[in-house]
Amino acid sequence: MGDRFDDLARAAQALDAADPLAPFRARFRLPDGLIYLDGNSLGPLPAATARQLAQAVADDWGGRLIASWNEAGWIDLPAAVGAALAPLLGAAPDEVIACDSVSVNLFKLGHAALVPAGPGRRVVLAEAGDFPTDAQVLEGLCARHGATLLRLPRAQLPQRLGPDVALLVLSHVHYRTAAMWDMAGMTAAAHAAGARVLWDLSHSTGAVALDLNAAGVDLAVGCGYKYLNGGPGAPAFAFVARRHHATLETPIRGWMGHAAPFAFEDAYRPAPGVRRLLAGTPPILSLLALHEGVRIAAEAGSGRLAAKAQALVRLFRAGVETIDDPDLAIETPAAGHGAHLTVRHPEAWRIVRALAAMGVVGDYREPEGARFGFSPMVVTHAQAVEAARRLAHVLAGRHWDDLALLPKAAVT
Ligand SMILES: *Cc1c(COP(=O)(O)O)cnc(C)c1O
Repeated sequence: MGDRFDDLARAAQALDAADPLAPFRARFRLPDGLIYLDGNSLGPLPAATARQLAQAVADDWGGRLIASWNEAGWIDLPAAVGAALAPLLGAAPDEVIACDSVSVNLFKLGHAALVPAGPGRRVVLAEAGDFPTDAQVLEGLCARHGATLLRLPRAQLPQRLGPDVALLVLSHVHYRTAAMWDMAGMTAAAHAAGARVLWDLSHSTGAVALDLNAAGVDLAVGCGYKYLNGGPGAPAFAFVARRHHATLETPIRGWMGHAAPFAFEDAYRPAPGVRRLLAGTPPILSLLALHEGVRIAAEAGSGRLAAKAQALVRLFRAGVETIDDPDLAIETPAAGHGAHLTVRHPEAWRIVRALAAMGVVGDYREPEGARFGFSPMVVTHAQAVEAARRLAHVLAGRHWDDLALLPKAAVT
């Protein structure tokens, strides 16, 4: 079929032939023929993870039982996964710990930032329309600390920084539009105003280049089940710059964050550094899965992952831009974006369903958003073009009309 996508498809073929990350795709289990543009919601399963988990369940849990806490290194796993993540973040190995969910880590690090800010700084800023959990967690925390959370439009945030602001909580890459903040610039602006930034790296880690220490970042959290391919409900991570370790305070004091958990002391003594962010016994099987996903991403390398993701989004965008449909709008900025692209269309829900029926899996995001993620280890350049071609086909033929008016599922 000769059409306007042929030139793009040829360009994609050349890029795939020269792609240093091409061999990584075979290390993931993916159904044949599927174009999976949802690695930013649930990354696919690395084959090594399936083997590793089966071995750990059979031999470590099933065979060596309690001895595995020492012999299989389970007790050090949250720190080991954090250290493995550090190169992807531009962090030192002892500045990162894998634990809990993003939401819980936002609570812990939000607390750590609010407490030392003092009574004169009782404002926390968040972006209106950002991923809801971030501002919701901080709002609840503010209520306990006599502070106020303000949700402001993106453009108003820099100018609102002032002597009453304790903390800015920002998604580095926006979950919907993929718009990316200038991390160093915003961190410097917050510091100049005496405030801190708590960065949410959920749509950044494994997808865009990060250098937290070069950017002067104080605090960050991020997600394990998206581009890090840690599996459903994988542990998240927390980053705290080393200069804050001595004064770091967690709101959830627990024995796993104690300096000596097995001393069974009555009194709380925090573990050094980020380890004090642990509270209860870590989910070992989930951490093992995340460890494998992180290892593969670190092997691919942050620079190569970022460069390929940008190329994939560019190709997809070039295809989408050829679609002549007055109801279709690209929400993702042309420059300064992460590894996904969102289009708006009044029929986005049924368009996402129609595409899934044609083997292109994306996300629906309220309202009217179809979001396509380009996880750089698992998507080929040819697939990015083919996905745009199928989107054009669905739109041109109104193929969503073939679908019943399905109710939206619990998870979209
Ligand atoms: C995915 C995501 C989360 C996930 O939070 P959990 O508490 O781990 O479920 C949080 N924030 C942002 C911006 C996200 O994209």
